[in-house]
Amino acid sequence: MKTLSFECTAHTFGVAVVDDKGSILSDVKYQYTGEKGKGIVPNEAAEYFKEVREEALSKALKESKLKIKDIDFISISQGPGLPLSLYAGLNFVKEVALKNKKPLIGVNHLISHLELGKLLTKSKDPVFILATGANTQIIAFEGGRYRVFGECLSIGLGNALDKFGRAIGLGFPAGPEIEELAKNGSYVELPYVVKGMDVEFSGIITKVTQLSEKGISKEDLCYSLQETCFSMLTEVSERAMAHCGKKELLLIGGVAANKRLISMLEVMCKERGADFKVVPLKYSGDNAVQIGWQGILDYKDEKFNEDKVKKLDIKPGWRVEEVIYP
Ligand code: AMP
Ligand code: MG
Repeated sequence: MKTLSFECTAHTFGVAVVDDKGSILSDVKYQYTGEKGKGIVPNEAAEYFKEVREEALSKALKESKLKIKDIDFISISQGPGLPLSLYAGLNFVKEVALKNKKPLIGVNHLISHLELGKLLTKSKDPVFILATGANTQIIAFEGGRYRVFGECLSIGLGNALDKFGRAIGLGFPAGPEIEELAKNGSYVELPYVVKGMDVEFSGIITKVTQLSEKGISKEDLCYSLQETCFSMLTEVSERAMAHCGKKELLLIGGVAANKRLISMLEVMCKERGADFKVVPLKYSGDNAVQIGWQGILDYKDEKFNEDKVKKLDIKPGWRVEEVIYP
C-alpha cells in the first residue's frame, strides 16, 4: 500500500510517497523563509505554497518513480496550523484527489511527528517531548489517545529562543548560536516557571532581554537561559514518566538539535533506568513523510468518495486529545 502525502501546516510545503512498510519512496520539501527577523507572514507563506505546489508534486512523483495511478490514497496535514497555509495545501490536494479519484485522508500534524518518531527510533510507548519552534508539549499515549501532560502556556521554546536571539542581534534561527555562546557563559539567576505540569517561557525572555540591556554578557545570558528552560522541561518530563510509569523518553523537534538539552535528559533517564532517544534531525522538522506514515496508520481501506473529499476541511486548532483510537 502506498500513499502520496502533503505537509502544509506552516512554513513547509512537503510532498512524499510512503508505503506501509515505512519505506520512504520520495521526500520533497520547499521551505518559506520570509524576510530576516520577521518570522512567518501568513499570506506570504500561502502565496509561496501556491507557487511551488505543482513543482513539488511532480518532483515527488518523479523521485518515487511512480505515477499517481500507482498510489492507493492521498494523505494531508489537516491541522493544527496556520489557516492560510492549510487552505493553500488543501485546496490544491482536493483537486488532485478529485481529478485522480483517490481517497483523501486528513491527519493530525502533531500526532504524525510522534508516530514518525516512533517508527524511526523503534520506540514503543514513550513519553514524548515535542519541542519545535511553535510547540512545546509533553505527551504520552494513555487510555486510547495521546494526551498532553504539560505544555508551554504562551510561546514555544524554539520561538522563545529565537525571540531572545532577535533582541540581542543573532541570526534566525537563534537556537544554534545561543548553544554556541552558552559554552562560554556562567549562571545568572533567572525566573524558573513551572506551574503544575506546564511551563512558561515568556517571562524568562523578558527578564534576559532586560539583563542584556543592563550589560550582562550574551554568553552568560545564553548559558542561563538554556540551563533554566531545559531544567524546566526535564523536570516536567520526569514527572510525566513517573506518573505514567513509562520507561522511554523520545525527544522531537528542532530544539532536539541542542546537545545541552540532550545531555540533561540523558542524565535524568539514566537515573530512572529509562531509555532516551532523539529523532534524527532530518525528520524532526516538518516534512511530508510524517504525514504519509500517519496516513498509512489511519487509513481504513476507504474508497474514493467525491462528496467526502469535497467536504474535508482544515482544523487549525486540532489538539491531539481529540483523536481517539478505538
Ligand atoms: P522546528 O519548528 O521543529 O523546525 O524547530 C525550529 C526551532 O528549533 C527554531 O526555533 C530554532 O531556534 C530551534 N533550534 C534549532 N537548532 C537549535 C539548537 N541547537 N538549540 C536550540 N534550539 C534550536
Ligand atoms: Mg511541526
